[in-house]
Amino acid sequence: MRAVYLVPVVPTPPDNASRTAPPGNHNPLASALSDLAEFDALLDAAVDAIVAIDQKGLIIRFNKAAEDMFGYTAAEVGGQPLNILMGPTDVTDHQQFVDRYLRTRAGRIIGRGREVVARRRDGSEFPASLSVGEARSPQGLRFIGLIRDLTSQKQAEEEALRHREQLMHASRLTTMGEMAATMAHELNQPLAAIATYTAACQRLLAVGDCSHTEVLTALREIGAQAHRTAEVIQRMRDFTRSRASLRKIVHLEALVNEVRPLAELDAKANHVRLFIYIAPGLPAINADGVQIQQVILNLLRNGVDAMRDVPEANRLLRLHARAESPRLLRVDTIDRGHGVPEAVREQLFTPFFTTKATGMGMGLAISRSIITAHGGKLDCANNPDGGATFFFTLPTAIET
Ligand code: ADP
Repeated sequence: MRAVYLVPVVPTPPDNASRTAPPGNHNPLASALSDLAEFDALLDAAVDAIVAIDQKGLIIRFNKAAEDMFGYTAAEVGGQPLNILMGPTDVTDHQQFVDRYLRTRAGRIIGRGREVVARRRDGSEFPASLSVGEARSPQGLRFIGLIRDLTSQKQAEEEALRHREQLMHASRLTTMGEMAATMAHELNQPLAAIATYTAACQRLLAVGDCSHTEVLTALREIGAQAHRTAEVIQRMRDFTRSRASLRKIVHLEALVNEVRPLAELDAKANHVRLFIYIAPGLPAINADGVQIQQVILNLLRNGVDAMRDVPEANRLLRLHARAESPRLLRVDTIDRGHGVPEAVREQLFTPFFTTKATGMGMGLAISRSIITAHGGKLDCANNPDGGATFFFTLPTAIET
């Protein structure tokens, strides 16, 4: 990574006598580097790019590395405003910071780094971190800035985010894939009902002697069944779509209600009774809704799986959501399955850990990373009367 030090260090003095800082204003760096040629050589040898500006924001030093980074020669930028190295927004911001500093000496930028958009000679822009230092010299106040090229760091961050999103997408597809077989079976029911009602309508109309009411009732039923089927399919498509992370102010109840038809179908197909309770009036959360739904469906899916060997009459899966405190929501999924052996409790959350013949072992790992990224916690505990409870917390969207 390369960096530009916007460092107004040792300005070129008008004559040799004025090179030394006045008493009480001693600049050890300037004294130590009294030989300007030596200083220039040092600047040019630096791997990082170094720029120095005076109080008016005019460039007075521009080292070799800065030339490489920005595509200007030192001669071209000498005496030019620093602005030519910055994107339009940051030009204004930077000038405001400097003016403010000159007025108040409150070091909003001095000694600190902030992110800016830097601009090369050819007009192309790149993300950079800018931190500014201050130096006093016989010629007045000078600013020392450091601009670090963040391009590769940003690219790495974006790449990591993309990978996470791809992984989440893959995991959603797996969850849906696992549910699809049983859901397809369930969706057959409304389709069969539609076929039956259609045949009935045809019969009634063929005979010609039928009441409007009978036909209308059948048609209404066809519409309702088709609507329900379409809604489930739509939810499946929404859920499995590839998408970038997006946080909004949302209500947990609405998120749960959206995935409820999918969860209910899955539970029904596995002869599990599903009971959902959301405490009324829960505060909103600032969250990526689809990701939270992914966690909820995953925990419910696991709960269903854990009860496969349990007699049907005992297969009860509950989801409870409540406020643990004004700042924290808590969601519990409580099953009556085989529970979690203490020895593997932490392993469950590591990628590829699975005890299922066809499991991927990604669900809990991804769910935990989603919840952690939202500022919450995901964990599990065995129930005293059998089965396990998987729970997570989420901070509410109340302002601090
Ligand atoms: P997968 O479902 O593909 O195995 P997960 O990461 O979702 O991947 O789960 C990892 C493992 O955690 C499961 O294989 C299972 O052994 C265990 N597990 C998850 N949920 C439960 C549960 N409700 N009860 C008991 N064990 C569970």
